[in-house]
Amino acid sequence: MEAAVTISSRGAERLRSGHPWIYRSDVRDAGQAAAGDVVRLLDRSGRFHGKAHYSAASQIALRLLTAADEPVDAAFFRRRLERARELRDRVVSDTNAYRLVYGEADELPALIVDRYAGWLSIQALSQGMDRARPLLLELLREMYVARGIIERNDARVRELEALPLESRVAAGECPEVVEVEMNGLRLGVRLGSGQKTGAFLDQRENYAAAERYARGQALDCFTYAGGFALHLARRCASVEAVDSSAEAIAAARDNAARNSLSNITFIEANAFDVLKSRDEQRRSFDLVVLDPPAFAKTRGHLDAALRGYKEINLRAMRLLKAGGVLVTCSCSHHVSEADFLEVVASAALDARRRALVLERRAQARDHPIALTIPETLYLKCFILLMG
Ligand code: SAH
Repeated sequence: MEAAVTISSRGAERLRSGHPWIYRSDVRDAGQAAAGDVVRLLDRSGRFHGKAHYSAASQIALRLLTAADEPVDAAFFRRRLERARELRDRVVSDTNAYRLVYGEADELPALIVDRYAGWLSIQALSQGMDRARPLLLELLREMYVARGIIERNDARVRELEALPLESRVAAGECPEVVEVEMNGLRLGVRLGSGQKTGAFLDQRENYAAAERYARGQALDCFTYAGGFALHLARRCASVEAVDSSAEAIAAARDNAARNSLSNITFIEANAFDVLKSRDEQRRSFDLVVLDPPAFAKTRGHLDAALRGYKEINLRAMRLLKAGGVLVTCSCSHHVSEADFLEVVASAALDARRRALVLERRAQARDHPIALTIPETLYLKCFILLMG
């Protein structure tokens, strides 16, 4: 029998509200629970509330696995993985690179599994999922014919769980660059060293949405491996793509070549400076994309982050022709959709431009948003028509 952990009534209330996390302050008695254990959750009257992974380090002490009194074994994980796969079969099209498991939203808290063509990339981001790795790897090998499985356990959040940062090929083999397809484009992905698990799979549907408005001259700020720029280049006369990282620009150039797209100018520079200089040059664009890194890494950075968003959005709006389109994104967990919209609105006011929201978007559907878990919505993307 698993160890029992007693939670406060506030903790139990949180579970009832549909949220799977119990913070350490709501743990009344951790009993015999050890790092990474599956534990039984009881309230003070001894009532059973489910089973959870216990972390001995993180402020998120417990992550609910199931509200039922069922064994958390191979069959349990297989059912969850199967259900996650069924959802992807329904919502993913036009790509062989997508998220197979999105943690809490798939009731596999702190587990990420991404598929890149014939390869799988996994991240175990809690002590419990870290302990379950051998089992998970075995199940994934059974369920998928993968040429290789790579573990990208080098995400900084593992530090909060007192887990080591490491990256390794766990099964099969993995070339340095893997080619995937997305919306009819070919993209090279570095599974061992790329950002996140290699690419920003969460923008896939937004790339296609942005492309539908593409024409004339476009500017893609924070392009990374060229995701937006490549899509836009299929329809625009010319695209400028900016990133401050030399490796990102090299990868983006390589991707343009893979697709024989020759109308993209790549610029290795600070996007803030490029936005400013294009304004000074009185350049104008038909479409601008802003997809900066998370400016607010913690709640304490919120004000500075909002100033950053304001600045780039204001500058981008000044560059857009009347009738031009702004695709503006924020992937900061700590910036809510409402906060973000307010900043973008205030940029429009300062720029003295009328703006209409053509589309209010989020991350792609293979990163589903769980209605009762606000943290599962992190990517905000507005497509605005500038007057
Ligand atoms: N749009 C990309 C993802 C962008 S991630 C995609 O769809 O794949 C954010 C990118 O911003 C990273 O590639 C990072 O190198 C770059 N970056 C961070 N700070 C920057 C700055 N000040 N100017 C330009 N690029 C920056």
